Formats: sequence, structure tokens, C-alpha cells
Amino acid sequence: MKAAVLEAIKRIAVKDIPAPIPKDDEALIKVKTCGMCGTDLKLYNGQYSARVPVVPGHEYSGEIVALGKNVRNLKVGQRVVSDPNESCGKCYWCRNHQPCFCKELAAYGVLRDGGFAEYCTASEKGIYPLPESLDDESAAFAEPVSCVVHAVDRVNYRSGETVAIIGGGPMGQIHLQFALHSGARKVILIEPEETRRQMAQRFGAHVVINPKEGDLKEQVLAETEGLGPDVVVEVVGRADTIEQALDLAKRGGRVLIFGFAPEGQKASMIPFNVLSRELTILGSWVNPYSYSRALDVLAAGKLDVKPLITNRLKLDDIMQAYTMMMEKPMGFMKALVFP
Ligand SMILES: [Zn+2]
Ligand SMILES: [Zn+2]
Repeated sequence: MKAAVLEAIKRIAVKDIPAPIPKDDEALIKVKTCGMCGTDLKLYNGQYSARVPVVPGHEYSGEIVALGKNVRNLKVGQRVVSDPNESCGKCYWCRNHQPCFCKELAAYGVLRDGGFAEYCTASEKGIYPLPESLDDESAAFAEPVSCVVHAVDRVNYRSGETVAIIGGGPMGQIHLQFALHSGARKVILIEPEETRRQMAQRFGAHVVINPKEGDLKEQVLAETEGLGPDVVVEVVGRADTIEQALDLAKRGGRVLIFGFAPEGQKASMIPFNVLSRELTILGSWVNPYSYSRALDVLAAGKLDVKPLITNRLKLDDIMQAYTMMMEKPMGFMKALVFP
């Protein structure tokens, strides 16, 4: 089968490799489409460690073409997605309802082969059949949406709050839609790129701000009665935007660090500002118990991910997706690869 293989840091090769054979409790999935995300770029750049060689790609939808002999609840021909974060079920964290910290997390597309290939295998326990109403392209967003579902659980929005989202990329736009659905009184999206601000406005953002024009804090305070937002969601993963998030939040507010900062990246904070303003700093890691809710939200049409797809590529052209991720040309949001 044809697959994109990450052979070493900054080296991707599209080549023929043997199709995987499903283990007894796994299914063989013919991949229909697989989205590329920031994690794939971090693996490519060596900012997050993968097992190499590995077939990257963890945001895919496809169809079951074969089953291992112990699979009980799936059928050949079913359209499915699979949760790429497979926990062991046996370690301390798995036994204490926090499988996202599993010691043996088998991250698909990171530590085992993923979806930038014609076929991939996945364990039955992480496979979810798709509702009729959900198309393959939208279903490929199940993983990023499931991460936002978990983040929303962490933030625990209360009705009538003001929310600022820093970063208007695909994840920022998904966060925006969840914040609006969560009863926020005002949602502000902060993003330098104009097409992304326009998209946020189409999704219903009450205010968009270009952080490169004028004083950001003054503008945010002006939009929040001089108080600052109840919740600030950082979806960039850079030191300066994390510091900004801490600076913008209202007294007693919550700051969610969601942007995938590279491992080892440092950001500074002023402890006095955290203690005297009683800030709550939250992290959010992958997607425990949120996959089926992500699919439900997508299938119910509560979330529009289609406008986020700006590029559809063949597997042979996958390097174009990496290049666009790096260079972020105007208007680029998300590339889907069709193996
Ligand atoms: Zn992803
Ligand atoms: Zn575990």
C-alpha cells in the first residue's frame, strides 16, 4: 500500500510499504481522508517525539475492510473513525479515570502507524461507527473536536461569561463555536490574520481583535467593562500568547492553556499577578471520554467544520500540507489528505 512515512526528523517519504494486518482485537480500515494538524508538524520538526519510522496522521475517517477474530461489535463495510489515543486500561491512571495520562498510551500516528496511508489498523475499543448524517470529511474532525470537548469540560463554562480566545486557527474556530454554544455573553477572538478574523465573525464571534493593531489589553478591557474576560483560552502555544492570556484574564478568572507549546518551551509569569488576582490556570490534555460526544455534536450539526477545510490533497502531495503548515499562507486553515 502507499503510505507517507516519517523516516527521521524533517524527512517524509511517500512509498510502498506492506499493508498492516489487524491483530485479533483490531480492524483494518481503508482510510478515506486524514486531516493534518499541528501535532503532525511538531513531529516532523522534532518538537515532539515520535517513534520513527512511523506513518503519521491521527485525524482520519474510513471504512472497515477486515476484522480480527475477536472483534465483536463492528462489521466490514462500516464507516468509522478511531480514537488515536488508546489507553492500556491497566495502569494507575487508567484505573483512576484519567486515561489521558496512561503510561502506555498508544498514540496512533505518533507511536504507532496512523492514517496518512491507504490502510491502517485500530483497536476495536477505540473505533466509533459513524452516524448516517455525518460525512467523511466532517468525521475526520472527530479527534480535534474531542480534544475541545475535553477542554470545555475543564473550563466548565457558566452562562453569561465573557470569553477571549487567543488564536483563530482551526482549533481556535472550534473553541469559538463551543464557547458560543456554552452560553457566553460575549466571545472575543484575537487573531492577526484577516481571513481568520473574518471566519470567526461568520461563526458568530461578537468581537474580533487584531493584536498587531493598537494596545491589545486596552481593547479587551474596553469590551469587558474594564474587567477582562472571565475565561481566556490560549490556542497558540507560544510563550508570548500564554503570557498575554494570564495578563488579560479577569480577577478570579480562568486561563486555559490549550495551544500545543513545544516540549521544553518556557513562558514567564508574575506570581503576584496570579495570587492577587486569584487566577485559575488550567491545562487540557488530549481527549478522555470525549470521542462519542464529539461525534454527537458533529452529527447534530451543532458545529460547522467544513469551512475549516481549505486544501484537499493527494497522498503524493502531502509535503505541500507540511509546507503550508509551516508557512501559513493567507487563507490557509486545514489540509485533508486523501490516500
Ligand atoms: Zn490532531
Ligand atoms: Zn493505562
